[in-house]
Amino acid sequence: MAQNSYRVVITAQSPLSFSQRKPGGIFQESLTYVPGSTLRGATADTLLNGAMQDHLSHLKFLPNCDFCQCFLGQEAAVFTNAYPVAPKSTAETPFVLPATAVSCKHQQGFSQADGHGVFDTLIDRLCWETLEPTGLLYGPDCPHCHERVESYSTVFTRDQAGRYQRQEVSQRLLTRVAINRRRAVAEEGLLYSPWVIEEVTRDEQSDSETDFTPTTFVGALYGAEQAVASAVESLTTVGGGSSRGLNHVQIKVVPITVEDYQAVKQRVAHFNRLIDTVWPLYQALGGQDKPKAGHYFTLDLQAQTILKTPYGEPTMVVDEAILEQATGGQLKSADINLVRSYTSYGYVTGWNSAWKLPKQAEVCAQTGSVFLFQAPNGLNDEQLKALAALQQRGIGLRTGEGFGQVRICDEFHLVRRDGQDPDLTNTLTSGLAPR
Ligand SMILES: [Zn+2]
Ligand SMILES: [Zn+2]
Repeated sequence: MAQNSYRVVITAQSPLSFSQRKPGGIFQESLTYVPGSTLRGATADTLLNGAMQDHLSHLKFLPNCDFCQCFLGQEAAVFTNAYPVAPKSTAETPFVLPATAVSCKHQQGFSQADGHGVFDTLIDRLCWETLEPTGLLYGPDCPHCHERVESYSTVFTRDQAGRYQRQEVSQRLLTRVAINRRRAVAEEGLLYSPWVIEEVTRDEQSDSETDFTPTTFVGALYGAEQAVASAVESLTTVGGGSSRGLNHVQIKVVPITVEDYQAVKQRVAHFNRLIDTVWPLYQALGGQDKPKAGHYFTLDLQAQTILKTPYGEPTMVVDEAILEQATGGQLKSADINLVRSYTSYGYVTGWNSAWKLPKQAEVCAQTGSVFLFQAPNGLNDEQLKALAALQQRGIGLRTGEGFGQVRICDEFHLVRRDGQDPDLTNTLTSGLAPR
């Protein structure tokens, strides 16, 4: 069987709700994207009711069962989360800003949308923390109004000209009466009030107040057989709730060529070239006289990531041992150092539709987490290929459901407060060093 990769474009045909199933709450918030796990579940249901129903006759993995191969095997398809994009931007790929991104506290957002700009702090923090210029604090302010900055998180697209655009959905509260399924009557006292994603989005670029377009999401399907891709495209609902008028969609799958290692190699090169530029600036400001050694690279989490240590304990850090394992030993933990991690933890919850029970909550590293590694002896092509493969295969557990998607050295790390040819005097404020 031949595997291909696809761009998955999902257009809302009704309000959408992908609830997080927080126990006890009256109001269920929806996730603001279409989870890969939901798309995968709906696709699997379709195939188990049709072309792949033979799978239902066995409990164990069978190598010659198509379903086992497509959904459970080593080479199982990966369904990524589908993040929102403006309908006119469906050719662009949505990404999540790294946790090191900041924006003006006073007026947040990318500058072309009336904001005061968003910039990244990773490279400056690396140089400042490594070279420790005496008497200087790293305290960037807004380059536009000099207000304080705070961390800024969003899904974004980047067009061909390198312009950034925030991508988001609006939600509204639906109040409805829950129906007792067995008796088909309204259950007394059982009101449910889900937050739902609006099926239409107002065009921010348009002057008209009434210019609405269907809410659209873009994700990817990696390493999928044709039968799986066709099943995805045939879906008209995803997740539960269709009987209540929720979660109706239209889906298009378009074959794509995945990013190869040359593109990753180039991004790593650009990332290191900027470090090479910024490094001496901090030395000139009284930093230590250390040379930069080897290559730095980042893993930027594009989805929640479920990580376990080699001892099976949950962790929110991708360390050297986990990266070695994830790259099939290409990046040996002896040859790489985890230099910095900017991460926080959350919980992955879910709904087991077969059992009608919540799935066990798992600890995860949050989307946007950044892990900065150094390879003192540089990276060879085989290692870059292994990193490029991680961008489709993902890292950690349950990667087939879209958890653990990563991007190597996202271009946003190159967006410094002071540009490519910086004047550092505004980034650094004089003061007592914290050491
Ligand atoms: Zn099977
Ligand atoms: Zn500002």
